[in-house]
Amino acid sequence: MSRVVLVTGASRGIGLAIADRFAALGDKVAITYNSTPPSGNHLAVKCDVTNADEVEAAFSKIEGEFGAVEVLVSNAGITKDGLLLRMKEADFTSVVDTNLTGAFRVAKRATAGMVRARAGRIVFVSSVVGLLGQAGQANYAASKAGLVGFARSLARELGSRSITVNVVAPGPVDTDMTRALGDEKLAAFANLVPLGRIATADEIAGVVTFLASADAAYITGAVIPVDGGLGMGH
Ligand code: NAP
Repeated sequence: MSRVVLVTGASRGIGLAIADRFAALGDKVAITYNSTPPSGNHLAVKCDVTNADEVEAAFSKIEGEFGAVEVLVSNAGITKDGLLLRMKEADFTSVVDTNLTGAFRVAKRATAGMVRARAGRIVFVSSVVGLLGQAGQANYAASKAGLVGFARSLARELGSRSITVNVVAPGPVDTDMTRALGDEKLAAFANLVPLGRIATADEIAGVVTFLASADAAYITGAVIPVDGGLGMGH
């Protein structure tokens, strides 16, 4: 099996771990980055997901090199934390624009080819915070909750074309995003997790590749928690 896989926001962190997993399976992997060109073996394309022209250009480049995207992992995401009373509107809209509208831009572009092929896999990387909420992350939680409704709508629209659409909802994962919080806050987060630790990026990647595998052909519209039990019951 050598599918064309696109992982957005995969210059580092969870996205890069996902890309590495697909490459190890023998897939042709394209990754996008925003600011930092990554080193490594994947086809790396500059693409700010908030810019529709860059999304279009990235897909054209990937299709030219590999053919139509068969597996899309929409992973690019940012945080701009702050309590509501201090949160600037720009901090709210830019997080939603990247995390949710960015997912819309890439999913819409990828779906055209998948509908033609009558096959495809889409996985959105959300967060446990989208289900639980998090003080200081109203913008981020709203964007991640929005992905659930978006994905489930696509699952209904695209199911008849054998395209599955699912969501992975990680808890805290060891990446630059969480390292920015500092050791003390990270340790406090780990204490809240029933498994007592934060995840590795590879632990998220394994679930994403499963959702794109033949074994997951009958799973669509699902939200899979990969959170050490943090969001249990939600
Ligand atoms: P990260 O280490 O900060 O990496 C973020 C990635 O997104 C980078 O590749 C970055 O590209 C890219 N990116 C940022 N803004 C972008 C834009 N406008 N257009 C395109 N790409 C953009 O983050 P991470 O921890 O791996 O998180 C990956 C995903 O998992 C995110 O959606 C995040 O919300 C979600 N998540 C993370 C955690 C966690 O604890 N880490 C938990 C739950 C969910 P550049 O390097 O070029 O800037």
